[in-house]
Amino acid sequence: MTVALALAFGTLAPLHGTSGGETVEKNREARYGLDHVVRETGTKLQWDPYRGIGTLWNGETSVSFRPGSSIALENYQTKHHIPGIERHDGVLRFSEGAVETFKSIFAVPDEPTEERRVGAIFVDPGHGGRDPGTIGRHTVNGELFEIKEKDIVLDIAHQLAGLLEDRYRDRAIVMSRTGDTYLTLEERTEWANSVPIHPGEVVLFVSIHANASLNSRASGFEVWYLSPEVPRDGLVTPTSAGVKDPQLLSLLNTIRDEELTIESILLAQSVLEGLDETVGEHTGNRGIKKESWYVVREAKMPSILVEVGFVTNKEEALRLAEDEYLNKLAHGIYTGIHNFIKDFERRE
Ligand SMILES: [Zn+2]
Repeated sequence: MTVALALAFGTLAPLHGTSGGETVEKNREARYGLDHVVRETGTKLQWDPYRGIGTLWNGETSVSFRPGSSIALENYQTKHHIPGIERHDGVLRFSEGAVETFKSIFAVPDEPTEERRVGAIFVDPGHGGRDPGTIGRHTVNGELFEIKEKDIVLDIAHQLAGLLEDRYRDRAIVMSRTGDTYLTLEERTEWANSVPIHPGEVVLFVSIHANASLNSRASGFEVWYLSPEVPRDGLVTPTSAGVKDPQLLSLLNTIRDEELTIESILLAQSVLEGLDETVGEHTGNRGIKKESWYVVREAKMPSILVEVGFVTNKEEALRLAEDEYLNKLAHGIYTGIHNFIKDFERRE
């Protein structure tokens, strides 16, 4: 056992100095089960089978670890050296040293951490300028009725930004375009990524689009979020994380990527509920979808894409031409964002 452990930790820095005496080796023997650790620390375990990462947590404090690695992270930020965590045949074992370190982390109250806050909201009306997006063409009373995605989403975006500005005077509300101008997807996401925020703050990315289908009966709204199968890179930098270790940076990036996906899902869910309240009686709720949209994938922030309805459906196209209906859509999205922020910041 000791030999196997010595091999397992062979590439890692020693726990204390370089003596490697018998006491240290014994200290490292992974002989305690998870139940013991959980009891001793008053924590619960979350296990991510996909990444092979465990997280012990208790209230505001969490410690993430990967069996076989001696690097553990307190609250996804502070690095601890905790050798002696193993996993064999699906069973976690902890050394005495690991148990003691966990106990000391969970016993000491944390430094007050900066509150999570939404620092800015980036409202992105899709398309624009020479890119009209989808176009709905229908015959109404013998005349051609045409409606363009770029116009609908700009109208909604203006109303949404107005509602957000009224409610959040201390936060930046940024629109990717305020007129009929053309922007590439890269320009939109680069801009959103560069909106200045303070440490502990995030930007919310909300892209607004309208749908089209070959099936002229298709109707309803839906909200997209980033598929977790597409990990974002560069979420964590040596400067932002205060660490240089590439392995640790990679782990931090993975954790942040997962957090962003969860936050995006929660934002999508909240906006879907908001829309259901304001326009659910008029059209269908098509639910949350996950797919890798470029514009969302490159955004290093909680990101969603709202499809407000189908311009290819005559009834819906006519609704989307009404100011009152666009106002309802804007209010629905606004309510969803507002409720998300309340939960995200855990206060009224
Ligand atoms: Zn679109």
